[in-house]
Amino acid sequence: MNSLVSRYSARSLTSSALALVIMATASTSQAQEDFSKPVITTETKKDADGKDVLYMYIDGVKVHETDPIKQPFPPIVTPGEPPAFMAAPSDAIVLFDGSEKTLKENWTDTKGGPSAWKVVDGALESVKKAGYIQSKQGFGSCQLHVEWASPAKAEGDGQGRGNSGVFLMAIYEVQVLDNFENPTYADGQAGALYGRKKPLANACRKPGEWQSYDIIFHRPVFDEAGKVTRRATFTVLHNGVLVQDHTVLSGGTGWMGPHAASEYKAHADKLPISFQDHGNPVRFRNVWVRELKD
Ligand code: MG
Repeated sequence: MNSLVSRYSARSLTSSALALVIMATASTSQAQEDFSKPVITTETKKDADGKDVLYMYIDGVKVHETDPIKQPFPPIVTPGEPPAFMAAPSDAIVLFDGSEKTLKENWTDTKGGPSAWKVVDGALESVKKAGYIQSKQGFGSCQLHVEWASPAKAEGDGQGRGNSGVFLMAIYEVQVLDNFENPTYADGQAGALYGRKKPLANACRKPGEWQSYDIIFHRPVFDEAGKVTRRATFTVLHNGVLVQDHTVLSGGTGWMGPHAASEYKAHADKLPISFQDHGNPVRFRNVWVRELKD
């Protein structure tokens, strides 16, 4: 606004120029608001069978948009060589250290019973139809380190190749997917907040190679009426490459049809960390977490 004002002397600032200044101010504050609060619109369209399908648009881009003109793919960034095994820091809660013991002590299926996921070569492997695996302990805001590997033999394509997910509070998904030379919609690739925010880069290693996520998560806060008063935020490094930069999560990441995602729904302050069974034998290891203040 200052540069605009400086073009007019106080004497010649006509009412129309003043209106222009006010408009410029309004559009600036609007832009600032949009940064933390994405504009979400929805419409319902009939599919080929005449069935209603919900379409959600986040900042004007359709959820799961496949057209790279409308939703460009993130640039491919080759990560550096993997570091030596990154041991947990002294104050971390180690959820899985490669042992059967930590699987039994710290993890259950979604009903609280023993999980059918198995330990293979020191890694926790997803078993088809076993369902999600979740930590017994609940967490809210936290720093989470997890390493994962998609199957060495790449099978399937798009969302069907090496699909799993790291869920904070068993609700909010950081997508796990083998995106090494395997394109899919940008908001559904590895490092995406599924259906809500594409990653800043595609930093995938080759199938079968170990990859890391370092996630800094701040939980959402709800008022007594169940309305979200502070949205969740995610900062995510994938193999040391920043893929989510303090991203404000606009809503839930749950599947709501081909072009929409779930909304926030009030929940407890602490809930399990979980990994997705999407039918592919994805492996996890070296899982540790540090609780953070809200
Ligand atoms: Mg997934």
